[in-house]
Amino acid sequence: MCGFGVSIMTEFTGGDVYQAEFDPKAFLEYFKFGEDTWRDDFLIFILKQYCKTFTSGGVKGDTLIDIGSGPTIYQLLSACENFKEIIASDYTDRNRQELEKWLKNEPGAFDWTPVVKYVCELEGDREKWAEKEEKLRKKVKQVLKCDVSKSNILAPASLPQADCLLSALCLEAACKDLNSYRAALKNISSLLKPGGHLVMVIVLKETYYMVGQRRFSCLYLERESVEEALREAGYDVQCMEVTPNRSQRTFSDFEAVLSLVACKRPA
Ligand code: SAH
Repeated sequence: MCGFGVSIMTEFTGGDVYQAEFDPKAFLEYFKFGEDTWRDDFLIFILKQYCKTFTSGGVKGDTLIDIGSGPTIYQLLSACENFKEIIASDYTDRNRQELEKWLKNEPGAFDWTPVVKYVCELEGDREKWAEKEEKLRKKVKQVLKCDVSKSNILAPASLPQADCLLSALCLEAACKDLNSYRAALKNISSLLKPGGHLVMVIVLKETYYMVGQRRFSCLYLERESVEEALREAGYDVQCMEVTPNRSQRTFSDFEAVLSLVACKRPA
């Protein structure tokens, strides 16, 4: 038992809470580029990592599956240059709908242009942003329901193993403890070809994050636990970078962001 004022634990927010209370529009507030220096820095770090991974890092192939896409597309902007087909996925109906809205260019869709322009600039040509949006819209072939706690995470859909899996800020949100994290990592890995790449962005030592007024729990992870879970799931880590969180903001208590590329060992 902990006394008052000792620590505030955020009760685990599982799938039902996401489905009922994760507001895509509120989450997308984090991606309004150019309005808040700190928020921009966070996004810039991640965008640079993706750019590096998918350009100089040479992660490429035919198919990429993004696991727990949420309502966002920024994670796919560099990836879409290197893959023929992308499958996005998320647990909640509203997130998948929000994503579809952008893919179909429907009214009311989130405006990603500032982020798209920035990624084009990183890749060497800011003027190509409209083409990139078009390219991404064509390459995302499906937006599927996904539950990382299931052994067949995309059921009832079934897909051939992909060349690359991407998963950002999802497993630590979806898992209650380290055991379920390890299991979820194995669940997602069944969708990856041996020799294929796993690209992840993970928040370290976070216990909660805010989406609008709603607090969501996060599994407290240390870098070593992630490395251990990856080893156990059959991966060799190829690169890993950590950047500390210097902000005092209260929308989340993460201490650092970890970005990694790992290779699935042949069986
Ligand atoms: N990948 C996005 C969104 C991260 S937010 C980004 O980089 O910004 C965390 C996401 O995990 C939410 O969209 C939530 O719906 C999803 N999620 C929560 N529980 C899940 C589960 N059991 N299986 C799959 N996704 C889940």
